[in-house]
Amino acid sequence: MTRREWFQISAAPLAPGLRAAEPASLQLEIVRLRLRHTWTTVMSSSEYRDNLHVTYTRDGITARGEGAPIPRYQEDAASARQAAESLRGLIESADPWPFRKLTAEIARRLPGQYAAKAAIDIALVDWLTQRLGVPLYRYLGLDPRDTPVTTFSIGIDTPEITRQKVREAAAFPVLKIKVGLATDEETIAAVRAETSKPLRVDANEGWKDKEEAVRKIHWLESQGVEFVEQPMPAAMLEEARWVRSRVHIPVIADEACLHPEDIPRIAEAYDGVNIKLMKCGGIQAALRMIETARAFGLKVMLGCMIESSIGITAAAHLSPLADYADLDGNLLIANDPYRGVTVEDGKLVLPNRPGLGLIRAN
Ligand code: MG
Repeated sequence: MTRREWFQISAAPLAPGLRAAEPASLQLEIVRLRLRHTWTTVMSSSEYRDNLHVTYTRDGITARGEGAPIPRYQEDAASARQAAESLRGLIESADPWPFRKLTAEIARRLPGQYAAKAAIDIALVDWLTQRLGVPLYRYLGLDPRDTPVTTFSIGIDTPEITRQKVREAAAFPVLKIKVGLATDEETIAAVRAETSKPLRVDANEGWKDKEEAVRKIHWLESQGVEFVEQPMPAAMLEEARWVRSRVHIPVIADEACLHPEDIPRIAEAYDGVNIKLMKCGGIQAALRMIETARAFGLKVMLGCMIESSIGITAAAHLSPLADYADLDGNLLIANDPYRGVTVEDGKLVLPNRPGLGLIRAN
């Protein structure tokens, strides 16, 4: 963001009806989340992730939001913080009750920067639902007993470490295995040496042609794999349609589908979509994606990035609307500052406290 762009965003006049009587305060902090294991996918390998944490305080209520910037979309913690900082004047002076109007104004002023938008959206929704005194799932009219099980993700590693990770994930009834390299057969063999539980597989765009994708998926079908996520590069839409017509398990779009408006374009090429708050910009955009996906007859998966319990709990409150959940980002880190959603026998258990229901870890 240039200085000129920053000034244009932060100095824009407030829309009628958005000014509040008492200002709020906004705190922005970049938090380094340390990973329990080095996290490797087709895209990258890392020991930690830097996320943006937002604290929004008003009327004596402290609300929290988180943005996990996705490097694939040219976002990082510094750009997310700068983007949120450019909105400080708007957010601190605006009335949060008509929060849809406020987030529409944010979308109008700030192009891109979906992690920053997600952090702000989550904090506003946490504030509103705390102020109303109801858990977020109740505000949304959802039954907390309808949460799905979450997968636990196994990143790409050596066969020995993969086997160790599978043993550590004994409490989870379904695993998500990262593939997409020449070592896929070894990886699945290492997993199958330890467990016969159902698997879901994410290739993260790793297979580069349609014949390879079909060959790999047919082989995975014989290995007890329930579905496969993003087999080929996001741009290969025609090829994805070709693959889908030749395989027998669902194919889920992740990198090929970021926002609600992407869904009509991909609906013929995939069976479902992995919806992430950090791709689409928060709870409100994720709800629009879920409704749009359903209108096109698609399966709904809720996924995540490496996030603390703030972002994961926000997504978990929407999970009664999903067919599949992969909400384990908080379980992959060693220094989660909060506690919110928990997992019992793989099933997501939502806190029944107001708002997101977060409490500080120790
Ligand atoms: Mg994925």
